[in-house]
Amino acid sequence: MNSKECTKCLKEVPLSQYKKRKDTSHGFRRECNACLEAYRKIRLSEPTKREKERQRLREMRANQTPEQRRTYNDKCLAYYSRNKSEFNRRVRQRQAQLKQAIPKWANTEWEKFLMQEIYHLSSLRQEVLGVEMHVDHIVPLTSDLVCGLHWSGNIQIVSAEYNRSKSNLIWEYMP
Ligand SMILES: [Zn+2]
Repeated sequence: MNSKECTKCLKEVPLSQYKKRKDTSHGFRRECNACLEAYRKIRLSEPTKREKERQRLREMRANQTPEQRRTYNDKCLAYYSRNKSEFNRRVRQRQAQLKQAIPKWANTEWEKFLMQEIYHLSSLRQEVLGVEMHVDHIVPLTSDLVCGLHWSGNIQIVSAEYNRSKSNLIWEYMP
């Protein structure tokens, strides 16, 4: 293996242009140095600039021809199949994180039912409205300030766009 596909630009890039990383199966970072540098610049700059980059990517996707979109989707799908175990590991990690955030008093059948209904309602809304919806924690589960709880009273169903726009440091009704 002399090169691999970068997850950001989706180009085949020589391995010499990747930073090493121990916790991946191939031992390299997922994104090439050029993309890493571009991302670092965006991250260090104003949040508005970051938002602009997001907007640019969103628009790029929206303006793709059906043919380009198909190619893009195929590449994403192929990437997923090649890295299934890594994806699954992250899903399991997230599930463990959620489980840990369930308070003892919420470990009931009723609460389990409520949570199932919430996730179901979210996907129903997504289907009916045609807008991507997220099940979101009002007080964030992980932030430098707090550790919110994973229970029905700390859940809201919001549009993915709104969810992406907020940080995990501030939230509505923040004391
Ligand atoms: Zn790249």
